[in-house]
Amino acid sequence: MKASYITEEHEILRQSLRKFLEKEAYPYYDDWEKAGEVPRDFWRKLGEQGYLCPWLDEEYGGFGADFGYSVVINEEMEKVGTGLIGVGLHNDIVVPYLEAYGTEEQKKKWLPKCTTGECITAIAMTEPGAGSDLASIKTTAIESDQGFTMNGEKTFITNGIHADLVVVVCKTDPHASPAYKGISLMVVERDTSGFSRGRKLEKIGLNSQDTSELIFEDAAVSKDNLLGKKGEGFYYLMNQLQQERLIVGIGAIAACERMLELTVAYVKERKAFGKSIASFQNTQFKLAELQTEVEIGRTFLDRTIEAHMNGEDVVKEVSMSKWWTTDLVKKVAMECMHLHGGYGYMEEYEIARRFRDAPVTAIYAGSNEIMKTIIAKKMGLV
Ligand SMILES: Cc1cc2nc3c(=O)[nH]c(=O)nc-3n(C[C@H](O)[C@H](O)[C@H](O)COP(=O)(O)OP(=O)(O)OC[C@H]3O[C@@H](n4cnc5c(N)ncnc54)[C@H](O)[C@@H]3O)c2cc1C
Repeated sequence: MKASYITEEHEILRQSLRKFLEKEAYPYYDDWEKAGEVPRDFWRKLGEQGYLCPWLDEEYGGFGADFGYSVVINEEMEKVGTGLIGVGLHNDIVVPYLEAYGTEEQKKKWLPKCTTGECITAIAMTEPGAGSDLASIKTTAIESDQGFTMNGEKTFITNGIHADLVVVVCKTDPHASPAYKGISLMVVERDTSGFSRGRKLEKIGLNSQDTSELIFEDAAVSKDNLLGKKGEGFYYLMNQLQQERLIVGIGAIAACERMLELTVAYVKERKAFGKSIASFQNTQFKLAELQTEVEIGRTFLDRTIEAHMNGEDVVKEVSMSKWWTTDLVKKVAMECMHLHGGYGYMEEYEIARRFRDAPVTAIYAGSNEIMKTIIAKKMGLV
């Protein structure tokens, strides 16, 4: 079943993006996984072809594309590998903050470079002592006549090494009660004095994704870099996190589809006891069950995407699709790896990499337990 929001234009984009990725990404992806990062050059090529933030208005370098284009770009990146999640994070998670809450001056300064690949973005919420419980972050940005002085440490930041602009979630009023009312968003630029990168983190998956710590030691942030209003940061996050969670769900379903494709091909080819593995009823039932669940997940996700594109309140549905699709991707990864037998445990098989990459999707962008607390609230249970 084709989603109603996908038009012929979206399919044309998909075909040209696929051709581009076959030339510029697939042949190098294993090298990027080993290097622990995607080269900046790839970002610039994405920019040249119009694959970075195409949804922005023309005056900022985009072409006013609808969210359907973002869906297609995220799906095709995921098919190469989950390590390309940083592109979706830049396109559909971080730059939307700049567009939604930036002043005209800020937008003119930053947005065009975000479409060319000259400027890579990141968002820094998580700290060593605070992930799910965002209101308890410790990073502060204290205002004086000279600007803001930022102190604190962030961790697990996607695009952390490459980022030229980081939207930092910090407290401009550390004594606010309730605490979330003291939270603001600040844009920290690469060359800000007192801002440095910590370690590039070694992960068990998403190896080509540069994930790092960020350190702020009396970092001097200009007043011009406050995003939106002081003390409104938590509300901005609550608004924008819906699209972030949707992006994670889109990646999860695309990964499920890719793993099923790989596994169906493998079981047809592999033989045991004189027959193909595909001819065993267990294999057929397992794959039939997974295919059913993936199609159910895809249908619900597509409905949620449509509602999001129509501007409806999708907080409950996004939370549902985020936890359900990312639980599913873990299950599909486990079962598909198992159906590959010992070869599924070997790095030279794509399914092994996907098995390592899948679990984090249930953790980031709000863990699946946090998604369930949101749903419970919407059900009037809290
Ligand atoms: C690869 C990767 C990339 C990431 N990228 C970014 C990024 O770009 N920017 C960024 O800011 N952060 C990023 N993160 C951080 C991520 O969002 C956090 O790891 C996540 O929100 C969980 O926070 P935590 O790790 O502190 O876990 P904790 O909050 O300590 O949670 C630990 C466990 O307790 C559970 N738990 C917590 N609270 C509750 C509750 N109320 N009820 C029930 N269970 C609960 C959680 O679900 C989890 O299972 C990334 C993380 C990873 C691993």
